[in-house]
Amino acid sequence: MTSPASVNAQVLVATPAARPAVDLADTSSLRGPPSVLFVDQSGQLGGAELCLLPLASSWTARREVLLLADGPFRKRLESLGVQVELTCDARVSRISKDAVRVGWLMALPGIIRQARAIAHRARSFDVLFLNTQKALVLGALGKPLHRKRIVWHLHDILSAEHFGPVQRLIVKWLTRLAVDHVIANSRASAFSLVELAKCAPESVPVVHNGVDMDVFRSIDASDLGALRKRLGLPETAYLAGLFGRLSPWKGQHVALDALAKLPDVHLVLVGAALFGEEAYVISLRAQAARLGIEDRLHFAGFHDDAPAWMKAMDVILHTSTVPEPFGRVIIEGMAAGRPVIASAAGGVMEIVRHGKNGWLVEPDNAAALVDAVQTLRAEPDLAQRLASQALIDVKRHFSLEAYLTQMTNAIASVAR
Ligand code: UDP
Repeated sequence: MTSPASVNAQVLVATPAARPAVDLADTSSLRGPPSVLFVDQSGQLGGAELCLLPLASSWTARREVLLLADGPFRKRLESLGVQVELTCDARVSRISKDAVRVGWLMALPGIIRQARAIAHRARSFDVLFLNTQKALVLGALGKPLHRKRIVWHLHDILSAEHFGPVQRLIVKWLTRLAVDHVIANSRASAFSLVELAKCAPESVPVVHNGVDMDVFRSIDASDLGALRKRLGLPETAYLAGLFGRLSPWKGQHVALDALAKLPDVHLVLVGAALFGEEAYVISLRAQAARLGIEDRLHFAGFHDDAPAWMKAMDVILHTSTVPEPFGRVIIEGMAAGRPVIASAAGGVMEIVRHGKNGWLVEPDNAAALVDAVQTLRAEPDLAQRLASQALIDVKRHFSLEAYLTQMTNAIASVAR
């Protein structure tokens, strides 16, 4: 991996909303923006995919998205006019991030096929942009075939809590040997790569996710009861919303434990088990029955209009039990103008300032979560102050425009 000559990492890290280090107009006058093949392993709408969506759809030069699995992400991209290609292999899709063992051998023919398919498509583009771990592995393995500049968008904390040893080893060496430029979604993610690959911190610039404020502005929540009614939620109860896929490390079980100690509060889980974690959903339902909270717990499922669901809440919870790489749901909760209670670890620490624009709690600590919800419920003025400051902060530091400008400049600089 080489350190990008023309992207000022400090500017990207420290002042997301500031004038970019590399001006897009400059780049265009030299050559025009590069053509880009974006690759993502998932057809589902997770944080990494929702982050890629506006980048791919607003890219002004020729671009295409290559997906390694089909799903609603393809439809969303196509509805925005983005050309999508698929190269799917069930065995490769089944390899999990923490158990890269025999599965790799069984999937070897599929891995070779997909690496070649990516290389084949990449040949007609200037830059290969890899958005997920499997995309990184397959895109980097095929580098001798395509010989294109590789940009890797790192959305993960590469720690032992999140990834198995083999996966970490593979990522370490591919980063060193094949990746030309990394963009990390948080300082926490960047730091984990610096630790793993022993690369220079300045070679891993950080670009925080951004939210489209217009989407949040367009939702009328002035009549909260009406909004809740439309969404099928209790109209007058105190509602805590927890957004994101249902997965053990997202900590929905911690929120259920807390709910048992919060009489009258209702908990709304918005999201689904996107990556084969159905057993966890069953365990959540069993836990709810055991705790006697089924009447106050709502499994809403996955919804495309998360901003409307957020505005329907009194408070937004984030309960990840291990450090969150970034946490889009947090900046979205802030953009919705709702107070956010979040697990104090990872990228969250780059967003939430305790008692100023949100409320931090120790991860995996149900008692701390109970305290936090009780505090914000008992002190609506405090909750409103946090939400108001959060709205100011999200506009200033996590705008979609700043995100797109920084990403565009970083990619353009790699192509030059
Ligand atoms: N999300 C959504 N509908 C749902 C639940 C979640 O659109 O029903 C979105 C949520 O708004 C956020 C993303 O999924 O944009 C989750 O991103 P985050 O960074 O919080 O978690 P990740 O999926 O990357 O682990």
